[in-house]
Amino acid sequence: MRYQSTRGQAPELDFDDVLLTGLARDGGLYLPVSWPQRSVDDWRAMRGLGYAALATQVTAPFVEGSAVESDLAQIMDDAYAPFSHPAIAPMVQLAHNTWLMELFHGPTLAFKDFALQVVGHLFDRVLSARSERLTIVGATSGDTGSAAIAACADRDAIDIIILHPKGRVSEVQRRQMTTVEAGNVHNVAIDGTFDDCQALVKAMFNDQPFRDELHLSAVNSINWARIMSQSVYYVAASLALGGPDRPIAFAVPTGNFGNVFAGYCAAKMGLPIANFLVGSNRNDILTRYFESGAMTVGQVVPTLSPAMDIQVSSNFERLLFDAYDRDATAIKRLMDGLLQSGSYAVEQVPKDKIGSQFIGTRLDDGGTKRVVRETYLDTGHLIDPHTAIGVHAAQSSCLDPSIPRVVMATAHPAKFPDAVEDATGIRPPLPDLMAGLYDRDERMTDLPNDLERVQDFVRAHTRV
Ligand SMILES: *Cc1c(COP(=O)(O)O)cnc(C)c1O
Repeated sequence: MRYQSTRGQAPELDFDDVLLTGLARDGGLYLPVSWPQRSVDDWRAMRGLGYAALATQVTAPFVEGSAVESDLAQIMDDAYAPFSHPAIAPMVQLAHNTWLMELFHGPTLAFKDFALQVVGHLFDRVLSARSERLTIVGATSGDTGSAAIAACADRDAIDIIILHPKGRVSEVQRRQMTTVEAGNVHNVAIDGTFDDCQALVKAMFNDQPFRDELHLSAVNSINWARIMSQSVYYVAASLALGGPDRPIAFAVPTGNFGNVFAGYCAAKMGLPIANFLVGSNRNDILTRYFESGAMTVGQVVPTLSPAMDIQVSSNFERLLFDAYDRDATAIKRLMDGLLQSGSYAVEQVPKDKIGSQFIGTRLDDGGTKRVVRETYLDTGHLIDPHTAIGVHAAQSSCLDPSIPRVVMATAHPAKFPDAVEDATGIRPPLPDLMAGLYDRDERMTDLPNDLERVQDFVRAHTRV
């Protein structure tokens, strides 16, 4: 499979190079040049497969011609082996037409493990096939960093440096990153917001000599391999609820638009999906876009769902590219406008295409606590604040009630124990997997929001 950049000025690459490169050299994001098509019979034939086998089947077309192609089944087996639930992504029923897909049984208790466990193994194989090393640099608002660290710790060909906004990730999230003892793992607490961290990472990638010198690579959700891996659980949910013979709607708590875009990929491959119900917290740039057609950056405000405290949803660019019939010039114009004026407006035809599939909702912190409490009282399930925003998105939509809705439960409630306890009176215990988290020593470095200082740190801590 070949991949093209959304901004049209970077070379087409094959899967292995897209994996290692992350962000395209023109600032765009990579997408496959065409969507592999699956027929109704193809989907039906996947019913009953175990999760790793399903992942192999769904992702195979994307790695065609890659060094990992013949190893894919083994990679998927290895990637999902550390998950603590035999179903990997079990579903529980919340109401007559609403299900919760639990995406939090991986090593760091959030859905990001689904992609990053795979990406860690993919990096390993591709780098060893090439006898190369690289430096992974990433920004996290909480869950990406710990999942990336869990996936890369002690991998010989990789050094990993993760920036997080100081004091703005939960203690569980911070400890999941800072207590990992591996010598190739380096945590940096930046005096700033998540968007500041993300801007620092983007600036490092845009510094071409620096990027080449250190063999920089990304694991944030701009990496295509993550999106590809996440599309699998949309297929799993659909097949479990009668797909492909009936359409399913998905409610997805959204930040960088990576998770929900993975669902869109499944739809582009031919899986019948009725709608995507996109849930935001008070950082509602996406909801405002769905209402107005204009993407306008505002201020980030901290909320009870910190992994969604984002203003610019990077992966939305991929959706725009498709909605503009892959007109890279148009996308470059929009993104230049965003950079210059903090805003862009989507034209009518692409706007209508997007609007026919995606529905935006928002929920503030008070509403989030209410949904956590009501869900507990109505169903007995404790849900985390991010998941609550998904539940609200499912409840508030006026879809045909016969269409099943699947809410993506993106984090384990024990990752956000204070908010859950505040809402329900019950403190969710950490699963056995995490025992001892509060006893281990932390390692991290504080740095100001200063590109040069961060670059010096990265240079000093890689073995490239
Ligand atoms: C990362 C994250 C999100 C947002 O996912 P995107 O792919 O960035 O839209 C939602 N919930 C949790 C718990 C997360 O960790």
